[in-house]
Amino acid sequence: MRVAVVRGDGIGKEVIPQAVRVLDHYAPGAEFFETEIGYGKWKRCGTGCDDSDIEALREADSILFGAITTPPDPNYKSVMLKIRKDLGLYANLRPVHGDGFSIMVVRENSEGLYSGIEEIGAEMSTTLRVVTKKASERIARCACSILLKDFRNSTLTIGNKANVMKSDVLFRDTCINVADEMGIPYRTSYIDALTFDTIQNPQRYGVIVTTNIFGDILSDALGHLVGGLGMLPSANIGDEHSLFEPVHGSAPDIAGKGIANPVAAIRSAGMLLEHNGIACRDEIENAIAGTISSGISTPDLRGTADTVSFTDALINRLR
Ligand code: ATP
Repeated sequence: MRVAVVRGDGIGKEVIPQAVRVLDHYAPGAEFFETEIGYGKWKRCGTGCDDSDIEALREADSILFGAITTPPDPNYKSVMLKIRKDLGLYANLRPVHGDGFSIMVVRENSEGLYSGIEEIGAEMSTTLRVVTKKASERIARCACSILLKDFRNSTLTIGNKANVMKSDVLFRDTCINVADEMGIPYRTSYIDALTFDTIQNPQRYGVIVTTNIFGDILSDALGHLVGGLGMLPSANIGDEHSLFEPVHGSAPDIAGKGIANPVAAIRSAGMLLEHNGIACRDEIENAIAGTISSGISTPDLRGTADTVSFTDALINRLR
């Protein structure tokens, strides 16, 4: 297995090496190669990610990605949007596992309000929200397949705001058609009420499929249920490539202190391994739970451990 490793900026540089230790534990023969992408590169070269970086990422079986700080340049185009587009990573999977519940947010990753089609002016700025039948069908199929594989006997929730934004009628109805065709029970929910209810009653939910920005916000909000952003992993999946990254960003406020919680990055590494056919999810989850319940955790979870010593304890449990 060839794994491209992008540490990125801020705490990405701290948590990703810890996640690589876990990859190394399960796949000792794996080949890792580092690719520099992000703010640091932009400062040196004037670009955060160029075509040769994309070509390098294409060479990997999977990519482990840290986090990127957005440079203070109004013309700067998001590196993450470029990577997702160039590598065709159309599905963003964000699992949230907690006490008595397990939710998978399946976020459409290629269009919606993150289309990148914008006009910026002094008096008016616009961003075009794009919803296509093709991309909606593709993400609905992805969500239904996950439900059939890992969330049997549950109902697909289609998060939308079709009452206000007519572009979501196409998204919602396309998802309904796919669910019908695949014989999967579904319900539709307006995203605002849905966000509130998932936080109140997470055990009612399994797979939630939704559009780009709604999935982004919903999964961050669900972080509240499991100890914060330091706990949430994600996978970006396409037909040919896959990229795994923590949901959190580069967290400049705590970067350089060595106290970032590596769990999101370690769980992302676990998703990478599972995607490549290496079963490890339960072991990693048990090791995370065991380490935390033994009293070892980082300050965001009210502990005193640093990033490296938390991972040391976790890896001891994996051995
Ligand atoms: P960016 O602009 O790169 O998205 P940000 O600071 O705006 O960075 P996040 O990095 O997602 O957004 O984090 C928000 C806050 O959550 C951080 O300021 C930090 O305090 C906390 N946080 C995020 N990730 C972690 C982590 N792994 N460990 C501890 N705290 C975290």
